[in-house]
Amino acid sequence: MLTNLFSLLPVELEQGPLQSFPKYRTQQLLAWMYKAFENDLKKMTNLPADLKTLISSTYSLDLPHIESHRKSADGAIKYLLKLSDGALIECVLIPERKKNTLCISTQVGCARGCGFCSTARMKLVRNLETHEIVGQIIIAAKELARVESFQPASVESFQPASVESFQPLPNSNLSPNSKAERTTHNPPFVVHSAAKNDTYSNQPRAESTPNLHPTPRITNLVFMGMGEPFDNQDNVFKTLQIIQSDGSLAFSPRRTTISTCGIVPGIIAMADSGIKAKLAISLNSAIDEKRNTLMPINKRYPLSQLKQALLYYLRISKFRVTVEYILIPGINMDAEDIKALRKFVGDISCKVNFIPFNPGRNATFQAPTTEQIESFMHKAQSLPQAVTLRKSRGADILGACGQLVINKAIGDELCNI
Ligand code: SF4
Repeated sequence: MLTNLFSLLPVELEQGPLQSFPKYRTQQLLAWMYKAFENDLKKMTNLPADLKTLISSTYSLDLPHIESHRKSADGAIKYLLKLSDGALIECVLIPERKKNTLCISTQVGCARGCGFCSTARMKLVRNLETHEIVGQIIIAAKELARVESFQPASVESFQPASVESFQPLPNSNLSPNSKAERTTHNPPFVVHSAAKNDTYSNQPRAESTPNLHPTPRITNLVFMGMGEPFDNQDNVFKTLQIIQSDGSLAFSPRRTTISTCGIVPGIIAMADSGIKAKLAISLNSAIDEKRNTLMPINKRYPLSQLKQALLYYLRISKFRVTVEYILIPGINMDAEDIKALRKFVGDISCKVNFIPFNPGRNATFQAPTTEQIESFMHKAQSLPQAVTLRKSRGADILGACGQLVINKAIGDELCNI
């Protein structure tokens, strides 16, 4: 199999495939890949023929193919992507005012079997390769630029006026204008400070800059699509290293979130790795017996072990943890659930996101009513942490939390996208 260049760090590109070329050629190629989001060698007009021949004969620049897309009434867009072996995955672009969040997949299917999750019904098909994870970001960024530059009429659909994903409750200490939630400016990507210093010694020549698309703005990345990120740990960590590199996207770790169902060794490995990203834990119950039923991973790593892992992560990482809690009536919304949650998160530096359950097809559980949500959130005010009620986006296109699924055996979602 050919090595895909989207699976290499900039330094690996320079010291591997492009080692016999001047350094500025690496910068030129990187600019095409990560600023113009281009993978067609024919369009890379400033690259010499011998370099193009080398790449086309020995390497690959393949990206996932957009099989179809579906747009939600709230502006979220779900992309169905076909991989080179025919496997299908989904990612969801979630526009919100100046923020464009991309939710990406890390596996085809998932082995973890969470009871509320549609992806679980697929079981695990395979892990995604690094370039297939990076590729989702490139595809979505290119798509965003294309829509903004060539289809001005549809820009409106990216800016729903009425949808507010995060709805701080009265007295919540998470203000919409708090530093954590603020979007500061409009660069191609939100970069971390190290990106200000170009570490390359050979600057590209004037003609080397590709004709860039108008500014795309994927501002936030969440690894919350299909799959458990820590079950594909090596490729997820490599993806983070690539996209955070100065020579590629220089994507901000503070705007990157890895969400796990509670793989304790993965949480510890992330803390130890030094790789920076925010961590979200899909908790959904702080009572072992209930969590065992909702999330089988709890039998392997019960709440006591999970808590120790979170505390360890917090000791080493400077990022706060987010606890995600899907509200499912009759399952985890009673007084005893709040009491257990208060005990679990009591000494953890975190914020708690409550998400009303969105039933997908064949859903076992029901969505909570407005009254049930209001009653629960009233009780949740007793938690010491910041709490938010997050409205899932893209529910009408089955793009909301836990709804991503592709499996002919369970109703051929493909036909409906
Ligand atoms: S919630 Fe996440 S970990 Fe659980 S089955 Fe779904 S994709 Fe897998």
